[in-house]
Amino acid sequence: MFHPIHNGTNHFVPTQTQTPNLNLMLHPYLTPLFTRASFRSLTMSLLHSNPNPIKTRIRGVVFDMDGTLTVPVIDFPAMYKAVLGKDQYFKIIGSSPSGIDILHHIEQWSPDKQQKAYEIIADFEQQGLDRLQIMPGAADLCDFLNSRNIRRGLITRNVKSAVDLFHEKFGMSFSPALSREFRPYKPDPAPLLHICSTWGVEPTEVVMIGDSLKDDVACGKRAGAVTCLLDETGRYDSPKYANVEHKPDYKVSSLAQFHLLLESNFDLTP
Ligand SMILES: [Mg+2]
Repeated sequence: MFHPIHNGTNHFVPTQTQTPNLNLMLHPYLTPLFTRASFRSLTMSLLHSNPNPIKTRIRGVVFDMDGTLTVPVIDFPAMYKAVLGKDQYFKIIGSSPSGIDILHHIEQWSPDKQQKAYEIIADFEQQGLDRLQIMPGAADLCDFLNSRNIRRGLITRNVKSAVDLFHEKFGMSFSPALSREFRPYKPDPAPLLHICSTWGVEPTEVVMIGDSLKDDVACGKRAGAVTCLLDETGRYDSPKYANVEHKPDYKVSSLAQFHLLLESNFDLTP
């Protein structure tokens, strides 16, 4: 009965001490990131633990935008190849298993080359905006957070105009909503720390959720927040992600699962 909990994800290790919650056992499709060994000790501690363990208090949720609140439509590998050239793309991807930080690469280039690269990226992003769709479960999740008065923030490496269009289409606001005009951007923890100080909450009282291990999870972990990776397709189960520096505390495959995770595993008190 425990198999689904660690199936395929036992290479992830929790890096944050959190009180194990019995509800976890009732929702095996939520994927807390335990090793087999730590899972065994978790099972033992559950047998002897208080039936009403103290849950971690969460006062705010910070979302990534593209691929998290919106359906992923930007073909990132195609965009990286167009910007870097195929040879450079394969060279970089070979040496950075968690993914390419394209904005970081561009920053080292000459102004002319940079401008060309930004134009290519803007083209891909525009195509993404033309086909923008809200992620299933996003509206229900935001209604739920509203009902609990839990703060909602947003951090994206996309531009402000994309955030504005998203707000317009979605009809619910995220504040602060930081785009790539806010420097330094993810995976630097600065935008998340900025949101926490604006809200007057500790980073440990915030969950950062996103579909990127290298940007969202890294940003969240560096800031000291609880992190949740949205992995719709299970691509992060691949062994190539086994040794990445920043590992998420939780992994879900939909926003509906994230909703369930928040409701069952955390004390949502604003
Ligand atoms: Mg994303």
